[in-house]
Amino acid sequence: MLTNQNIQTIRDMNVLDDQKYFVDGGFGIGFVAKSGQYVTIIDLKGAQAGDFVAINQNDPNEGLSAVRTRRHLRSLFFGVGDTLLSNHDNPMLKVVVDTIGVHDSTVPACDPTRYSVDFGVPGHRNCLENLHEGLSEYQEIDILDVPEPFNLFQNSPVVDGGRTGVVNPPSKAGDHIVFEVLMDVICALSPCPQDIIPGNGLCPTEMKSIVSNHIPSNE
Ligand SMILES: [Zn+2]
Repeated sequence: MLTNQNIQTIRDMNVLDDQKYFVDGGFGIGFVAKSGQYVTIIDLKGAQAGDFVAINQNDPNEGLSAVRTRRHLRSLFFGVGDTLLSNHDNPMLKVVVDTIGVHDSTVPACDPTRYSVDFGVPGHRNCLENLHEGLSEYQEIDILDVPEPFNLFQNSPVVDGGRTGVVNPPSKAGDHIVFEVLMDVICALSPCPQDIIPGNGLCPTEMKSIVSNHIPSNE
């Protein structure tokens, strides 16, 4: 018998389903996650950097801050157990699983001028516009207000003399990072379109994000 109570149970079950989002290499996607949920980002093919941002779902002026997180962690790098802070110094996300341990929080999103000025390729797809499009699916926001990204799987080692570089990620197909969500957020993910210099193996590939109520066990 389909009672109102049963209908409510079915709705609750639907809410409990994991939400999965595929995004092609070089493109962007947005999604929402609630406090208490988990966000998993998976490098499906390997060697792909994914620029990632999040803003407070209830205040688009608050967003992830790489510079404040670096100050909080006293480190250029982040890993399991670390909390990523907002520009208001509030905890937004906590790393709870990380199968690769190589990410970047120092390099800005590639943008139109990165390609037009530095490489002479106007109109190239870029992470900034991808992230802006992803966030804009849920919240009107000026492109200048898109937070600086955390670049998941991006390999930006510190090299001799304290200089930094960007080389291809060591991630293999299926490597992933899982965040515990500490604030209702709108997220955006851009598997970087960079195909001119190393950073994605010169071939952008697809990624997947999962929003779930539990840490995925087999991803
Ligand atoms: Zn990029």
